[in-house]
Amino acid sequence: MCGIVGYLGHREALPLLMEGLKRLEYRGYDSAGVAIRHGAGFEVCREVGKVASLESKLGQDPSRYRGTEGIAHTRWATHGVPAERNAHPHADDKSGIQLVHNGIIENYQSLKKALESKGHVFRSETDTEVLSMLVGELYEGDLEAAVQAALRGVTGAYAIAVMCAKEPGVMVVARKGSPLMVGLGNDEFVVASDPSAIVAHTTQAFSLDDFTVCRLSREGYRTSSLNNVPVTPKVMELEMKLEEIELGAFPHFMLKEIFEQPDALRNTLSGRIDLKRGDVVLGGLQSSGPDLVKARRIVLTGQGTAWHAALVTEYMIEDFARIPCEVQYAAEFRYRNPIVEEGTVFVAISQSGETADTLAALEEAKERGALTLGMVNVVGSTISRVTDAGVYLRVGPEIGVASTKAFIGQVAVGALMAIYAGRRRHLSIDRTRSLLEELESIPDKIRQVTSQSGSIRDLVARYVDRENWLFLGRGYNYPVALEGALKVKEISYIHAEGMPAAEMKHGPIALIHEGMPCVFVAPKGSQHDKVIGNMQEVRARGGRVIAIATEGDEEIIPHADEIIRVPEVSEALSPLVTTVALQLMAYHAAVLRGHDVDKPRNLAKSVTVE
Ligand code: GLU
Repeated sequence: MCGIVGYLGHREALPLLMEGLKRLEYRGYDSAGVAIRHGAGFEVCREVGKVASLESKLGQDPSRYRGTEGIAHTRWATHGVPAERNAHPHADDKSGIQLVHNGIIENYQSLKKALESKGHVFRSETDTEVLSMLVGELYEGDLEAAVQAALRGVTGAYAIAVMCAKEPGVMVVARKGSPLMVGLGNDEFVVASDPSAIVAHTTQAFSLDDFTVCRLSREGYRTSSLNNVPVTPKVMELEMKLEEIELGAFPHFMLKEIFEQPDALRNTLSGRIDLKRGDVVLGGLQSSGPDLVKARRIVLTGQGTAWHAALVTEYMIEDFARIPCEVQYAAEFRYRNPIVEEGTVFVAISQSGETADTLAALEEAKERGALTLGMVNVVGSTISRVTDAGVYLRVGPEIGVASTKAFIGQVAVGALMAIYAGRRRHLSIDRTRSLLEELESIPDKIRQVTSQSGSIRDLVARYVDRENWLFLGRGYNYPVALEGALKVKEISYIHAEGMPAAEMKHGPIALIHEGMPCVFVAPKGSQHDKVIGNMQEVRARGGRVIAIATEGDEEIIPHADEIIRVPEVSEALSPLVTTVALQLMAYHAAVLRGHDVDKPRNLAKSVTVE
């Protein structure tokens, strides 16, 4: 979560750092700061609130912040309220250290006590300042050695960038748990939490591995372990294009990404469908494919939206491949005493590939002997590196905090995996072909939903003042109802509950009151009549029924107050279109309520801490 940018080179650092921070804004933060090497020391500026506020503070005295080396940070407070004194960079009080940090230092209290007993005086409530003081305390003329020594005594998660007044032309970065990349330009380095702050300057970069330190200097770079054993990083070519991370004509990234879904899905499917052979081609599963096919049990994990994609995938795997499958919250799995029998395949689902809980659950499953697979979007991310095999989503960078196209990518990859295994177990070639043909037709069907954005907005405007909403669905559209409610909560701050429609009678029906919006995800399918029954129950109690219904479904008309039409799709693949209608509802609700859709309060894009 939040972000780090660092620059060491021959250009003015400040504009570059500020541009980088803006590109990382989507990750969520509450304050920002920067330190530029200037003269014999640093000029530091920190501010609560948006990067724009930091920028205007810097603008009051621009000549102070001239220099070609600097570190910058957006903070998502974990220890200490968002306040200027807690914003990064944090200095030490002895050796001229400046340090920015993402993550949590878990043993900061004991370290703080020890440092206080040596006379250090702390000015913030953060765990980060403790690390800065520790590096300063251990500094004996070599910043790299001091950082290594400090990190050997630290537990927790960190990505850090550090400079020392006494070592001009040197920056040291390190990581454990929180992401950090080093971009290699022409005689310059751009360090950042993700590639979006790097690609404008260079496409050559490497991700730091856990427990790795990198010393950048005007002579070059060197990576090593915490014990100073040299490590060779894997330099890669960043594939991200600048247009993919810019707004273009859209007012928000979320809307842009909703509208990108047809192309994103085409990309996910591209080269993976062989209609002639009636088969799925998954390069990433070449060696592990047979183990997936003969799995005795599949465990799918994720958090948030990824967990909802897992629920849809569970239904597909059981339906197409007839393999027992279950979905677990990663954060629960990691701390339980889970049973992982022989033949268990564990699938970690995450947009960023850095979700801390999912990563820890994956490690737990691996430890217990499961084959581990990943379904992630960000190429080269930690989950993609530590799993035995996996399938990338290929939906392009997702900047909007509320996930949209990554969900569509996750469900599509789930479908491909289920069909792949199914074809090798129970699915006939004809059924496989018809599923694959249908998958290929979905991008156009999504477009038919996004083209209704204007009328969806008008519909939402009629209900946007209501504080409590219900989202209901059955079968494959039960996870869609959960996802719809989550989207609404995340960005419009309306209280919304999602649940299986049948569950309503077991308690939540007590909530229904005059005028309460109840959204039914009710495309045609095996439980259509039952869903209509649930709609009647809502209306009998004064609730307002908003139905997501299949085009041409007349039967639903008398039972709904409002209808959003979606094209006909078979039940198993219907989440790929019904979800899009709910994404648009949530988006418009947030805009109508005047909220900043791309930077919702309290949320971070990738949750890299527990
Ligand atoms: N734990 C640190 C703090 O509260 C860093 C938070 C972050 O990742 O931005 O300042």
